Amino acid sequence: MCVLGQKAAEKGLRLELDLPVQLALMPLRGDPLRLSQVLINLVGNAVKFTERGGVTLRARLMDKTPNDVRVRIEVCDSGIGISADAQGRLFKAFEQADNSMTRRYGGSGLGLAITKSLIHLMGGEIGVESTPGRGSTFWFAVRLSKNGDAPADAVDADVTSPAGRQIQRRHAGARILLVEDEPINREVALFMLEDVHIVVDLAEDGLQALQMARETPYALILMDMQMPRMNGIESARRIRADSLNRDSPIIAMTANAFAEDRKACLEAGMNDFLSKPVEPERLLETMLKWLSRR
Ligand code: ADP
Repeated sequence: MCVLGQKAAEKGLRLELDLPVQLALMPLRGDPLRLSQVLINLVGNAVKFTERGGVTLRARLMDKTPNDVRVRIEVCDSGIGISADAQGRLFKAFEQADNSMTRRYGGSGLGLAITKSLIHLMGGEIGVESTPGRGSTFWFAVRLSKNGDAPADAVDADVTSPAGRQIQRRHAGARILLVEDEPINREVALFMLEDVHIVVDLAEDGLQALQMARETPYALILMDMQMPRMNGIESARRIRADSLNRDSPIIAMTANAFAEDRKACLEAGMNDFLSKPVEPERLLETMLKWLSRR
């Protein structure tokens, strides 16, 4: 969240928290990982699509029983807004309000689909109200327990990889950047990562990766080495020097697993490497290791 605060400050946006004292003082228990991921996605979008004004995070108590409370959380922005037509499609996979915006804003159109499935895993609802040109309010309502019981854990039964299950359980909804110029490799990795509920933004070369890393904080970056326009080493070095990802783990994917190449990766500020062709379980294990260290 503090990286988002930094991004909002850079754009001159106000970031406000509207949390009634009564709610703030209540000892509630939810699913911290899922809730924080949902908030990161919604606040991240709000900051991304707002140029003037600000973003408010609001919480309201809706009802309570002896055991739990229902809260509604809203993320309101004064940004570009979303047309009524696009609102209907927003929570479906691969949708962007205006597909021509992909180039301008990056993103794969999966964040909200995954956000919605995280909310559903917590038994909640999500929705949006928006006026084009005026701003958007994304809201969700979830039950939080009053007596400190941890919520039940839910993972897809069809994910068989142990590391994949851990990623789904502990890091679902995390947004990563995949930098890869080869379309087939990109599709394979995308398919595998989305299966474990990771949100993937794609960059086709090191220069695009650098631009995206200056716009969006990522939980992790997977970096190919040989690419047109700017290679992985140069891109990593510049991401470390000036971006919102100076501390994010960067994992090199390299066809040359020789000692010199590894040394060059580390010197450029990368944290780890995977040999190509990347073996799925190795990829998930390495990602799990670095996602868990953050
Ligand atoms: P992505 O992964 O591409 O960011 P999301 O699922 O998070 O995709 O968002 C899908 C699309 O919804 C965005 O590309 C944008 O068009 C629109 N959108 C999401 N949040 C907002 C917002 N706060 N203001 C305006 N448009 C938004």
